[in-house]
Amino acid sequence: MLILLVGPPGAGKGTHGKRIAAKRGWSHVSSGELLRDAVERRTPLGLEAMEYMRAGSLVPDDIMLRWIEELLDDPKHRHGIVLDGFPRTVPQAEGLDALLERYGQEVACMLFFDISEEAAVGRLAARVSCTGCGTVYNLISRPPSTAEVCDRCGGKLEIREDDATETIRARFEEFRRLTEPMIEYYQAKGKLARVSTDGAIDDVGRRVTEVLDELCRCRDAEGTA
Ligand SMILES: [Zn+2]
Repeated sequence: MLILLVGPPGAGKGTHGKRIAAKRGWSHVSSGELLRDAVERRTPLGLEAMEYMRAGSLVPDDIMLRWIEELLDDPKHRHGIVLDGFPRTVPQAEGLDALLERYGQEVACMLFFDISEEAAVGRLAARVSCTGCGTVYNLISRPPSTAEVCDRCGGKLEIREDDATETIRARFEEFRRLTEPMIEYYQAKGKLARVSTDGAIDDVGRRVTEVLDELCRCRDAEGTA
């Protein structure tokens, strides 16, 4: 079972991805985290990716696809994978589908966590993190007990560079240009499930559960794994 997660910044797909995986015994794999880990541990893939990252360019699709292949070969992910952060473009999606075909598999579903740009800017502008220990706070839903000071270590709290309004707007622009066509690509294949991110995190979680329960029922009925 391969589930893809997609969504603009602030949609909370990482949070929900981890919850889905924990609940169903699947692996949550974030391409960003995995890449950082490969670089840190200096694996062959990490070393190759590092060359590109050092040069300030994106890691090429064929390297990312080789990495997906390693995931598919790894028995610890056999129950299911929730893939977060890849693919992001139509060529990546086509590459992934071709790879899966060789494995006799296909994408089960793409969960699209939908959020408007204004809502995302509002949500992320409320997020601050500790410059000392990295703990993340939300000024609305999880404020520190003293303004701008970390409860855990007393460090100074700041808005992360990734969460600055201009950064978010630029990432939305990129999302519209590169990722929305990919969402249409999976929609045309009947693989898209759009999840509204309105409301509390548990409300969104319930919507995700409904989508996946339905998906699992259909697959059981078809007799596929
Ligand atoms: Zn701290």
